[in-house]
Amino acid sequence: MRKKLLSVLVILLICQLAVSPSAEKLAQSERVISDLSSITAYSGVSVGGKESAAIINRNRFYTSEQVEKDISLLAKSYPDLIKVSSIGKSKREKNIPLIELGNGRKKACIVAGIHGREGVTINFTLLSVEEYCKACYSSSGYYGDYNIKELLSEYTLYIIPMANPDGTDICNNNELPINSSGYIDRYYYRGNANGVNLNANFPFYWNSITDKSREKGEFAESEMETKNIIRLCRDNNFEWLLDMHIVGNCIYWKDSANGAVSGDYELASGLRDNCGYYLCSATTDVNEYGGGLENWFRYYSGKPGLCIELVRTDSVTESMNLYDYNKYFDIALNWDKTKYTFAQAMS
Ligand SMILES: [Zn+2]
Repeated sequence: MRKKLLSVLVILLICQLAVSPSAEKLAQSERVISDLSSITAYSGVSVGGKESAAIINRNRFYTSEQVEKDISLLAKSYPDLIKVSSIGKSKREKNIPLIELGNGRKKACIVAGIHGREGVTINFTLLSVEEYCKACYSSSGYYGDYNIKELLSEYTLYIIPMANPDGTDICNNNELPINSSGYIDRYYYRGNANGVNLNANFPFYWNSITDKSREKGEFAESEMETKNIIRLCRDNNFEWLLDMHIVGNCIYWKDSANGAVSGDYELASGLRDNCGYYLCSATTDVNEYGGGLENWFRYYSGKPGLCIELVRTDSVTESMNLYDYNKYFDIALNWDKTKYTFAQAMS
């Protein structure tokens, strides 16, 4: 009897050893989930002092589902100013929403969240929409020094707040793909569900890109998300386009292949002078400008296309990581100045 018990114990021990690698993987992915949920616990509290707006939570890690919910709440709250539709689907058949903000004749385009890991650009864009709407409905109609009511009667902003819903959910909702250790690499993941960097997939010097780390896709415009953005630009005569990214606190506004584009310096320097950005020098490496959305837009339309890097890079942010950008939103994104970005672009 004692011998039998011993052999059962040995078998149990072997089983335990056999499952331990996958158990370790599971523990790792659970750690990511608990990290994210602890961050989500900041909901409704803006670290840095200010209260969050009524609908948009600047500290949240937005998933595609939450983006859709909050957008429809915005549309219900501000029906005279906001129209919601879609530019099409992602690879995983998720909706890519479109917000039309304003009632003006001039049209311009704003794209956020094209890189999976850069979900904080979604928060920035949606929070801007909500605050501009609130200002429009106020008695003054002003947002800071900007007469937002007047600006939104001149302009309609076509806003894609989440250009890459699959990438957003891979990073913020722990969806696949994961790397070989079972750990979601949300610090670095830029791609869509195919692992393609959409901001290197546009038909502009695409063949000349030789740097494999750009993850440019199988051919130019191979991805559904890219196609949908291009169609929106072709269907509308946009005055300018802003492509929102995260690190650098600077504006990429020119590349050597396109050269000068009418109105580009005026738009970029206005944002520099009023919203706290630096201007980058012209991009000269085809591995940087090839396949880029704003670069393609300049080429296609002959109008200004700007890449805006929102997050500061200075002593304040040097110890921050992707989690902290959401947690310390106001500080990391220099919100007190950058919140006027879209208003200044319309001015
Ligand atoms: Zn980016």
